[in-house]
Amino acid sequence: MLRYDASAAMKQMLVPWHNSLFRVSGISNVQPESKINVTAGNLYQKFVLSAAKLNVMKYLFSTALLCTTLLASAQDKFDDVFAKINADVQQNSKAYQTLKYETETIGHRLTGSANGAKAEQYAFDLLKSYGCAVRFQPFEVESWARKTISVEIGKDKNSLTKMKAVTLAHSPVKADITSEIVDAGNGLEADYQGSPEKFKGKIALIYLGVLPGSPAGTKSLHRSEKTAIATKYGATGVIIINTVKNGVLLTGTASVTGKLIPIPAVCIGLEDGMALKEKIKSQSQIAHIAMTNFSGLIKARNVVATFKGTELPKDKIVVGGHLDSWDLATGAIDNGIGSFAVMDMARTFKKLNLKTKRTVEFVLFMGEEQGLLGSKAYVERTKKDGTLAQVKFMLNYDMTNDPKGFSTSRTEMKDLFTAWGADIVKIDTGFKNLFNAGAGLHSDHQPFMLEGIPTGGGFGGKLPNNSGPFYHSDGDSFKLVDEQGLKNTVRYSTMLTYALANTPKIPVGVQGEEELRAFLESQNLKEPLTIAGEWRWK
Ligand SMILES: [Zn+2]
Repeated sequence: MLRYDASAAMKQMLVPWHNSLFRVSGISNVQPESKINVTAGNLYQKFVLSAAKLNVMKYLFSTALLCTTLLASAQDKFDDVFAKINADVQQNSKAYQTLKYETETIGHRLTGSANGAKAEQYAFDLLKSYGCAVRFQPFEVESWARKTISVEIGKDKNSLTKMKAVTLAHSPVKADITSEIVDAGNGLEADYQGSPEKFKGKIALIYLGVLPGSPAGTKSLHRSEKTAIATKYGATGVIIINTVKNGVLLTGTASVTGKLIPIPAVCIGLEDGMALKEKIKSQSQIAHIAMTNFSGLIKARNVVATFKGTELPKDKIVVGGHLDSWDLATGAIDNGIGSFAVMDMARTFKKLNLKTKRTVEFVLFMGEEQGLLGSKAYVERTKKDGTLAQVKFMLNYDMTNDPKGFSTSRTEMKDLFTAWGADIVKIDTGFKNLFNAGAGLHSDHQPFMLEGIPTGGGFGGKLPNNSGPFYHSDGDSFKLVDEQGLKNTVRYSTMLTYALANTPKIPVGVQGEEELRAFLESQNLKEPLTIAGEWRWK
């Protein structure tokens, strides 16, 4: 028997003990018992044994969970239903033609506008015509719409020339400023810290993405976050340079809160912007920005089609996509393809009379473009009526096209999602069963995710007909839509929804506050959420 000075022995022992913690969780190489030195006294023995017991418990629990998942997925015999869904959507999908009709007869679907209200009614009537149990979920919000804009640039007031520009949403109701333009590069914190004073009272010229030649690993921020940073450094206006060639102009919100911002924000074309950056290097330039906009309370309506669950009616799977769009074109890609896919999933559910254990709610949100207004209203409503806990999972379809796999915020879903995906590959090898776990912001899944609710959707698809550059632009029109890509979104997402609403056990629950905090930090979302004033942790 070895004789030791207990405390020294303890310290010495703990280091190898820590390493063994890992080892224990792997169970196969449990050494501590054999290494337990009798001289350390029974205190140490008790400590070691209870810790070992704890890890054994943890290991048993995670193995049990894994087994149930594997067993559950093994028990998920959805092939027949998947085949039915596949056949029906391939033959009878109405997504393409109904989107075509909407873009030709109504046009854009800006929330709070006459078009927006028509689009809400059109969606309601369409779902009704499919036989769905459909309802409006009205909400009242501050909304914004553009009116007039003029941007002139020159070396002085006497040599101003007009430049093509669009207003970014939530710019002031009225603004008329003339000031020097200062190049703010990518518009990130780092771009200001060198000379913060330089931007006070000036108009900040900001590149929408990350400029070529920027330090490796430079991560861009959303245009609203870049505008917030410029405001913080005292800029009186913001000119954002779009990243798309051929003078394409982009709109979208410049507000992180969905409320009016104190300074005017506009977008100019890539070529104009890069030429302006060059000019400023040799000759200072001023800009005169004059605009008027509408801002006020409006009524809008989410459209909700409900399929009540059989065994677990109080467990709900929310399947959403925003119906609203910006007003520069008809929003065919953003988000015609997502929202009309969601309506066609509901059509398929009704047509095939699909029964699910859990309740499924297909939701067409309005107000997404103006700050996730409809999805925030939906979540607030469930909080008010005490049904938030019923939402077990949220699938979001925003510009989803021809998915090749599934994504989710929760990596623990991998086994189930890929097990179902493998069944889909048997039906169509065009589906690649890709899997992605991770989280981002700025779409309707966000209000659900910030309540700890697991989210997901399609993954790995490409936007059709090189439509990416026309995002939020005057080029986002129906000719960009691909019919088969849309059908693929409908059929694979209907299968995912059916499986999620029927699988015996969903292996993830709602994250608690600390778990959610750690998760959001792990996804690098703390900074953008802090800028948006949505980081509630101390
Ligand atoms: Zn969108």
